[in-house]
Amino acid sequence: MAGAAPTNETQLNCAQAAQADMLDFVHESILMRTPDGRITHWSQGSQALYGWPKENAVGALVDDLLSSTYPLPIAEIEKQLNRNEKWEGEIRRVTARGESLVVYTRWALQRDAAGLPARIVESAFAVGSVGQAEALRASEYRYRNLFQAMAASFWEIDFTPVGAMLRELRAEGVTDFAAYFRKHPEFVREMMRVSRIIDVNDQTVALFADGDRSKMNLPLDAFWPDESIHVYAESVLAAISRQPNYSTETKLRKTNGEIFDGLFTACFPLESIAKGTLLVGVIDISERKRAFAELGRSEARYRNLFNSMGITCYQLDISGVIRIYARLKAEGVTDIAEHIHKNPGLITEAMQATIVTDVNEPGIAFVGAKDYAEVLGPVSRFWPADDPEGFRQAFIAGYKSDARFETETSQQTLDGRRLDVLFTFVSPPAMREAGLALVSLIDISERKNAQKALEKLQNEFAHASRISMLGELTASLAHEVNQPLAAISANGAAGLRWLDRPNPDTAEVTTLMRRMAADAQRAAEIISRIRLMASPQTPEKAVISIGSLLQEALLFLRHEMQARGVSVTTELESDLPGVLGDRTQLQQVVVNLAMNAIQAITSTQTPHRLIKVSCTLPDDRGIQVSVDDSGPGVAENQRARLFDSFYTTKPDGMGMGLPICRSIIEHHGGTIWVEDGSLGGARFCFSLPPASAGITSGNHT
Ligand code: ADP
Repeated sequence: MAGAAPTNETQLNCAQAAQADMLDFVHESILMRTPDGRITHWSQGSQALYGWPKENAVGALVDDLLSSTYPLPIAEIEKQLNRNEKWEGEIRRVTARGESLVVYTRWALQRDAAGLPARIVESAFAVGSVGQAEALRASEYRYRNLFQAMAASFWEIDFTPVGAMLRELRAEGVTDFAAYFRKHPEFVREMMRVSRIIDVNDQTVALFADGDRSKMNLPLDAFWPDESIHVYAESVLAAISRQPNYSTETKLRKTNGEIFDGLFTACFPLESIAKGTLLVGVIDISERKRAFAELGRSEARYRNLFNSMGITCYQLDISGVIRIYARLKAEGVTDIAEHIHKNPGLITEAMQATIVTDVNEPGIAFVGAKDYAEVLGPVSRFWPADDPEGFRQAFIAGYKSDARFETETSQQTLDGRRLDVLFTFVSPPAMREAGLALVSLIDISERKNAQKALEKLQNEFAHASRISMLGELTASLAHEVNQPLAAISANGAAGLRWLDRPNPDTAEVTTLMRRMAADAQRAAEIISRIRLMASPQTPEKAVISIGSLLQEALLFLRHEMQARGVSVTTELESDLPGVLGDRTQLQQVVVNLAMNAIQAITSTQTPHRLIKVSCTLPDDRGIQVSVDDSGPGVAENQRARLFDSFYTTKPDGMGMGLPICRSIIEHHGGTIWVEDGSLGGARFCFSLPPASAGITSGNHT
């Protein structure tokens, strides 16, 4: 066996040499190498491709000569080669000119008689320079990826048989294919049947065959319901008329028979037309259609609501204002109120940029327009020039991205009326992104009038309650007036006695007369205070001192308290600021609270009959007045109801005292409440905002 080997080897070499010469006629590079990579044959094509002459190449190691870079580890390639006898793939190599090249190579392994690897024959051709090949590969990769990975279903279809059918038709003298297709739907069906599906991507399988590829083995016409035959016909016409593509919405059928809405697109690039293939894409738009229909329905619902609501609603295009906001933000404006103050023109600009784009039925009449179209346009027409405050506030709220803003403001109508309205502006983030906002306007002129009527009624009630209170205090008041009158009468009698003397003492008489004048003055003052309390009047606010107000009120009650054995103490913090208010009204509050306290104390048999009136200035609540008593107090569960109208526990009570007190205090910007007192009974407190620094109670008391 040992002798036979060289013979065989020689024969093989001769045959190879002949073969190698032949290979020179082939344009491709053909090289042979030993399993360890030493080049034994180097064709003309190799020289042309790599630039190395045969002399340099033969005997050299292929990878040294050409600096090969393989797509896989070389051991892996060799493993495949050993297993399959062949390998093919792209290799990057460097030519004699130093140029980097991508070559597509096919390797064949030849074995010797013993079956051991003898040599490798390699053919190669250039795929391109590295850049080109990579770009190509990348783009192919991208498209293949796209083909597989896109959410769309893709079909590659061979329509050469369709071409044959059409040629036949033309030969028969048919020129108007469109008319022919319309008349012969069965011909269109036949075209579908002969179109061959070459490939579909995974999305197609998922969409049409529930993910089961084997179910896709159907003729194309299985996927086209009758109602969509015309779509197929039109796509064929588009292809014939050399349009680059054709796209439409159509119904398609799944393998399970279900019909759905698809967006169908056929592409006819010239190269594929030449090959007789076309690419079709289908996107499932049933969801979108459903959503769209639902949107339409919900939009209709909202439009119904929009129109049938009794209140005015309009839609605004605020994109212009959003641009203003962006500009201001870019300028770094943080204190927007301050910025508006310095640039009053900004408000006019923003009003001009806020456009009414839709209005509901009630809104047209509300703004005094002749018709719908007249309402549309900038909102500047609805804001009174002398009262843009509501818009200013809305603009500020918008700058802070508030989704909602509400205020009571006035609007002017297109027919020249002025309305008090509750203005509500909403623009949640999604709407704002679309540059939209909704506004509703509710006419509150009526409410305002009702409020005014209520205030008047309350004043009348307050008056009535003052009168009834004065009625209760008659004894006290009579006593108050009686005191100075008695003094006057006594002093008058004494004065007469001094004058009756043989030597009238004029000095003494003068003193008495002065006292009489002072007492008369006191009586007059008491009477004028009673008259003030008793006369109906519209409230007038002035800066008043709480200290003196408390003293006066207690003066009214002094006799009442004495008569019922109730003693009162007052605690006034010094240097209290004044309050802005109506003297008579606030006096009424204090008298009311004190009267309630007296009544509460006398309703029990308590030996301690005490009232403490104090006035303090806690930091957070402004000026606070409290009336403490030693009565039975107010049960926890009754507290909430005390301030309700007509709530009373007294047999002859009206239940109007505390509601009136609350309304007066709230009108003064304060609050009133009840809590447990320090004398064992209730403590009624009210707070009032201080008028301004500098005016103190001390100045007045
Ligand atoms: P009226 O005095 O006519 O009952 P008010 O509104 O002044 O009406 O008072 C309502 C109720 O509040 C009284 O009936 C009483 O039950 C309770 N109330 C008011 N002040 C006091 C107080 N100082 N102590 C205990 N209960 C009080």
